Amino acid sequence: MKKEKLIKSKRNIFPQSLSCLVIAILVIGAVLVTACGQAVNESQANSTEYADNPIAERETMTQISTIDALLNGVYDGVITYEVLKGYGDFGIGTFQALDGEMLAFDGEFYQVKADGVAYPVADSQETPFAMVTFFDIDYTGELAQGLDYTSLQEYLDSILPSINTFCAIKIEGTFSYMKTRSVPAQQKPYPPLVEVTKNQPIFEFEEVEGTMVGFRSPPFITGLNMPGYHLHFLTNSKDAGGHVLEFTIGHAEVFIDYTPDFMMILPGMGSDFYQIDLTPDNQDELEQAEK
Ligand SMILES: [Zn+2]
Repeated sequence: MKKEKLIKSKRNIFPQSLSCLVIAILVIGAVLVTACGQAVNESQANSTEYADNPIAERETMTQISTIDALLNGVYDGVITYEVLKGYGDFGIGTFQALDGEMLAFDGEFYQVKADGVAYPVADSQETPFAMVTFFDIDYTGELAQGLDYTSLQEYLDSILPSINTFCAIKIEGTFSYMKTRSVPAQQKPYPPLVEVTKNQPIFEFEEVEGTMVGFRSPPFITGLNMPGYHLHFLTNSKDAGGHVLEFTIGHAEVFIDYTPDFMMILPGMGSDFYQIDLTPDNQDELEQAEK
């Protein structure tokens, strides 16, 4: 029933039949299965746009587009938030035209715009880049007071079973210091991300209560996503936050969801994604834009 409902909603959003290409990579233990061919066959059979929604497989990190596409200014929406919610209740991302930072947890999605204020996300809004999963807690722990971004990364790396798979991370508590940024909506022709972030509005908080959400991505993900940690923040009053640049933990708890499966939905026909050159290595630009 759920699947039928989802297919209907997709048809409403993309009435021109196929508008998205899906690459699904399911990593289960040491077995690697690409579902691309299967997805195409199924699409031809029933006119759906995506591979089977792995909703039953709650251990999947689903990603929309690639980080290098974002670095190249591909900011047009790929899917709506209504559809994205079918792939997870937790995650981070951005919006059509790069209009702010997205974060989601407990099934609620928020948009932190360039004014630093968090707004609820409408189902009709679209995302050009997002990472989502269904958050199930595999690990819970206390975090030491005084940890900053660098020392937190070292600590989490030391307690994770491996850094070679994705994991979703939620950190709740008080932060004696928090520094975030957001990005303003862009006009076409879209500038590269590194140009946008040169003038990013930055927000600083002291003694603030809130939640950080995000992922640790494996080192081999270069080009598709950002290796290492990527966190977004929202205050407990749910009125401010953004992409996390720096912080100091006051008192906080960490919740981790080990997420071994990975699915990627690429932009469809007509997207700038089809024209850009994704050959060059963009690691330096990525460091500048996201750190
Ligand atoms: Zn971010």
